[in-house]
Amino acid sequence: MGELDGKVALVTGGCSGIGTAVALDLARHGADVAIVDILAGEAAKEILSAIEAQGARAVALTADVADRQRAPQVVAEVQEMLGGLHILATCAGINRDAVIWKMSPEEWEAVIDVDLSGTFFYCQAVAPVFREQRYGKIVTVSSINGLRGKFGQVNYAAAKAGVIGLTKALAKELAHSHVNVNAVAPGFILTPMTAAMPPEAREAAVAEIPLGRPGSPEDVAALVTFLCTERARHITGEVIKVDGGQYI
Ligand code: NAP
Repeated sequence: MGELDGKVALVTGGCSGIGTAVALDLARHGADVAIVDILAGEAAKEILSAIEAQGARAVALTADVADRQRAPQVVAEVQEMLGGLHILATCAGINRDAVIWKMSPEEWEAVIDVDLSGTFFYCQAVAPVFREQRYGKIVTVSSINGLRGKFGQVNYAAAKAGVIGLTKALAKELAHSHVNVNAVAPGFILTPMTAAMPPEAREAAVAEIPLGRPGSPEDVAALVTFLCTERARHITGEVIKVDGGQYI
């Protein structure tokens, strides 16, 4: 018996990095999973097989989370395909780093659109479902850089700080409906996103971590799954770091 038996989860950004680890971990604990990504192509097939190998049902949908019209369609399609929806994990995200004097309007807008508005669209799309059934778990993905800021990331830090405000406000709005809403704030995690950083920036990030190692996507997924279980039923409106102490 898994703790999440009978539950259906929607994971945005599920075709890479943290999103994939979250999808697999939720499935390992019994949930059926829909992975949603900007291009749910060949990568999605392997992930679906890995989820199904754990005895869970899995579907993949292509969607740009910044597309406000698509979000309610995706939620309806997942409900239709998997027979319900109980968990939302918003893992889709991008960065477009530049110092402010070099940042283009497009770099600012792309990160706000995907990381902040994308989170909002999916939270808004599941809210009526979760309110109606008086049950739901929402886990958003912020970043320690949304808490402390980072040189070269005014767009990303603003979006991730916005995710924290959204999470806390939504926790208040949905508490009456027995819906838990929390954010995870990862530090430096080894994923394709951070693999694209210059080597010296990666080394500098690892040097900040008291535990002396970069995090893995599975380190984040373990917390996301916990927040989706009844063991975490009294936790809402929280922002929990998974960073090996990088923030302190
Ligand atoms: P990742 O490996 O790049 O995964 C992100 C996934 O989201 C990719 O599959 C990406 O697709 C997808 N995506 C991008 N734009 C999208 C859109 N508009 N609509 C739908 N899907 C989209 O990154 P990650 O490191 O796992 O990051 C996952 C989340 O954790 C992000 O929100 C990130 O900001 C956050 N985070 C990461 C770290 C870290 O150190 N890695 C630290 C703190 C927070 P493509 O690959 O095709 O673009």
